[in-house]
Amino acid sequence: MKLPIADSATVRAYATVLLRRHRRPLLRIVVLHTLAATAGLAGPLILGLLVNAVTAGTTTRYIDRLVLIGAAAVLTQTVLMRFAQRTSMVFGEEVFAELREEFIEAVTALPLSTVERAGTGDLVARTTNDVNKLQHAVRFGVPRVIVGVVTITLTVVACLFIAPLVALAMFVGVPSLLLITRWYLKRATPAYQRESAAYATLNGTITESVEGARTVDALRLGPRRLSRVNADLAEAFAAEKATLRLRTILFPGIDATFVLAPAAVLLWGGYLVSQGMVSVGAVTAIVLYTYQVTGPVWELIFWVDEIQVAATSLARIVGVQLVDPDRQAREGTPVDETVAARDVTYAYRQGHDVLHGIDLDLAVGERLAVVGPSGAGKSTLGRMLAGIHPPGGGTVSVGGVPLVDLPLEQLRGHVALVTQEHHVFVGSVADNLRLAQVDASPEALERALRAVDAWDWVQALPDGLATEVGSGGAPLTPAQAQQIALARLVLLDPHTLVLDEATSLLDPRAARHLERSLSAVLEGRTVVAIAHRLHTAHDADRVAVVDGGRIVEIGAHDDLVAAGGDYAALWHSWQHE
Ligand code: ADP
Repeated sequence: MKLPIADSATVRAYATVLLRRHRRPLLRIVVLHTLAATAGLAGPLILGLLVNAVTAGTTTRYIDRLVLIGAAAVLTQTVLMRFAQRTSMVFGEEVFAELREEFIEAVTALPLSTVERAGTGDLVARTTNDVNKLQHAVRFGVPRVIVGVVTITLTVVACLFIAPLVALAMFVGVPSLLLITRWYLKRATPAYQRESAAYATLNGTITESVEGARTVDALRLGPRRLSRVNADLAEAFAAEKATLRLRTILFPGIDATFVLAPAAVLLWGGYLVSQGMVSVGAVTAIVLYTYQVTGPVWELIFWVDEIQVAATSLARIVGVQLVDPDRQAREGTPVDETVAARDVTYAYRQGHDVLHGIDLDLAVGERLAVVGPSGAGKSTLGRMLAGIHPPGGGTVSVGGVPLVDLPLEQLRGHVALVTQEHHVFVGSVADNLRLAQVDASPEALERALRAVDAWDWVQALPDGLATEVGSGGAPLTPAQAQQIALARLVLLDPHTLVLDEATSLLDPRAARHLERSLSAVLEGRTVVAIAHRLHTAHDADRVAVVDGGRIVEIGAHDDLVAAGGDYAALWHSWQHE
């Protein structure tokens, strides 16, 4: 399942709303550029007047005056342009920043189940490639298009004003220009979309190969992964070549048009001069204007192209916002702290249930160990109990309220999932802790760190709580990173914890120390521990044996051993190892 891509109507509506929010700066940009472009029109006009004056005979004083006016116009244009550019750039940055913020908001709000199903490659491509492509178009493209349109319009108006008959010849290039541009634009969108998709696939393949490098090595999948990368590369190459071919027709076609127009004005204007219908000066001015306008026309076509590319990226970025939430917060306050599962089923792929009607009641404060063979559904059950995924059928509730009806921030205060994965975010130690509780006081942070036995080493860091950690910051050992994660839990203060093999990957020397931190966190909470080592099960109040997506046995360790079922067999075999 891929993440959705917005259709063009949605993208257009989104862009319109975005631009409408910035109506004032947009207006300011248009006004400033109009003024600058008007000043820029002076040059050819003055040259035309000079030609006429020289042909008719004039004084040096008149010429000096015209040159002075020309110089003043250039100076005015420069100053106006400076402010116009500045406003445009600020505008571009602001719009882009807003886009990026909205996108990050959408990405972080994505339901985990969607992210897992869609794979990370597509999402990574959207957050990198697509945002990059969009960035260029929004920061520079939108302002340049405004400039282009304003300049072209003013120039054409000026020509029609000076000598409408001569100006007619300017338009000879328009039909071929429109034809070539249309031909190109019609093919460009699908071609660029294919290019984006090809890069997304390539990204996905490479990311997955790197992330799963151990698996690839272990199963000797190297050649197969390599041939997939090669196939993806071949597709990316073909897609890139297709867009390049389009451009190799567009560019010369347009250049030819640009040669055609001034030549036509010159010939037609020359003929009209010979008939005594217009002055040489007027023809001079219009030829110069025709040359002058090719720059903005080129730029306009270039940016329309770029903006089309950006629109395909925007469609993919807006698409992320179209993912439906996997839950809807509803009214209801849990009456107590009991977590219960009723007839819970779940399927990662439709029709393939990995949990089959799980019923489970957790007593407040109890320790439940979940054991069973690999692939039995233990982790999936853990994620259901922590409200990570809404169950496919049945409910998991806390104090009578289904977990998925609770707003996320409230849910985390009830039940939290602790896995082996722990991430240190770039920022200070305090920032990392405050992820759990935004307004936690320094004293609260210290208490949380003390609770997990981490205060001593945090204090010893160069800046204590304010020390920058994460990539590029002070390095933390895996055990320290895990302690930070545990301190976060203390701040979050959920009454129920689901531990998914939380300590199994730790190096044994650190494990002992960490287990102390962990037991401090577990103190007084209901705990579901998904265990691979049976000795942790032995210490639990109850043990649940999961097999084939069902709880096949549940009870106290001693009772299960006495009953002589699956668990007893597992226990005995483990003891004889
Ligand atoms: P356990 O924790 O007992 O090893 P899991 O809950 O991880 O079992 O897995 C139960 C079943 O669900 C397995 O068959 C596994 O292949 C499948 N499964 C787990 N995670 C995913 C996923 N993200 N996408 C598809 N299938 C999955």
